[in-house]
Amino acid sequence: MSWNGIIDHYRDLLPISSKTPIVSLNEGNTPLIFSQDLTKTIGLDVYLKYEGLNPTGSFKDRGMTMAISKAKEKGATIVMCASTGNTSASAAAYAARSGSLRCIVLIPEGNIALGKLAQAMIHQAKVIAVRGNFDEALTLVKEITKKYPVELVNSINPFRIEGQKTAAFEICDVLGDAPEFHAIPVGNAGNITAYWKGYKEYQESGRSKRLPKMLGFQAAGAAPIVLGRVVEKPETIATAIRIGNPASWKAAVAARDESGGLIDSITDEDIIAAYKILAQGSGVFVEPASAASVAGIIQLSKNRYFQSHQRKKIVCTLTGHGLKDPNTAIKNVAQPLTVDADMKSVLREIGF
Ligand SMILES: *Cc1c(COP(=O)(O)O)cnc(C)c1O
Repeated sequence: MSWNGIIDHYRDLLPISSKTPIVSLNEGNTPLIFSQDLTKTIGLDVYLKYEGLNPTGSFKDRGMTMAISKAKEKGATIVMCASTGNTSASAAAYAARSGSLRCIVLIPEGNIALGKLAQAMIHQAKVIAVRGNFDEALTLVKEITKKYPVELVNSINPFRIEGQKTAAFEICDVLGDAPEFHAIPVGNAGNITAYWKGYKEYQESGRSKRLPKMLGFQAAGAAPIVLGRVVEKPETIATAIRIGNPASWKAAVAARDESGGLIDSITDEDIIAAYKILAQGSGVFVEPASAASVAGIIQLSKNRYFQSHQRKKIVCTLTGHGLKDPNTAIKNVAQPLTVDADMKSVLREIGF
């Protein structure tokens, strides 16, 4: 079967008409990988939804195919976003794909992973680094797109949420139903909102029966929802969730409460530990923010949260690819050894 992207596949559950010009890079249909290693640790059947395998390396592509298609349908000529990196990479690629849209992105100076910056630049977006954080950049983008003929493509654009909900559909299609639990990193909180919407709509349409408990995880230094107040200066190594005032705050709280789940925080130390566990125990390389979902369920498991749920299913969304942020990877592992180019030296290092 050929896969032509999420709009083509889930058209009947998306706000799309026959007149909408579809701008797609065949995003979606990402693997749901069973993890033997984490299943042993947690005691539940753990599945990894590897969103790093989308065309630009993050789940943002699901939302962007919708946002860019709808912007084109409306006759827009310029799109704009604030971004911790992946939104700009995706917006830049889909704008290039559209053949007609210009893309402008605001990023927080100095806090964007190398791979993401490279993507935005190579796709020829106009990249403007602001001396401020993501929240300040988003405030500027909101004001500009209100006053000028520019289409906003951050996740406050409802079409972004519509596209991103399709990840929940795919999970139900593969497992035959929704899992009992769904764990996900929370930054601007659009994705947890989108998954919950997706799970509910699939159930309402009769294509799934169960609704999962939604387990959201913020970094301890950027945990406004957990603390119940805006964090003025968010700090975390997981730059994709370095957000102090999430745009979809209320919807995330609703997803948590309606599903009977929770939103908790984890330290950078635990995020990096989970980042290595994923790479070394499951063979899956993600960017640090993505490891928040796995760090979160390891923490919950230690606190016996899953005690009465043995063998039930849990899905962890792994939001972005590890190659986005090679610097963090290199910094957290041993460096390669250098030896002389002779058999003896090489064999000695191998242990023969
Ligand atoms: C955008 C992003 C997040 C956060 O998603 P929200 O919808 O803002 O909560 C997490 N991880 C990665 C890799 C991202 O790109």
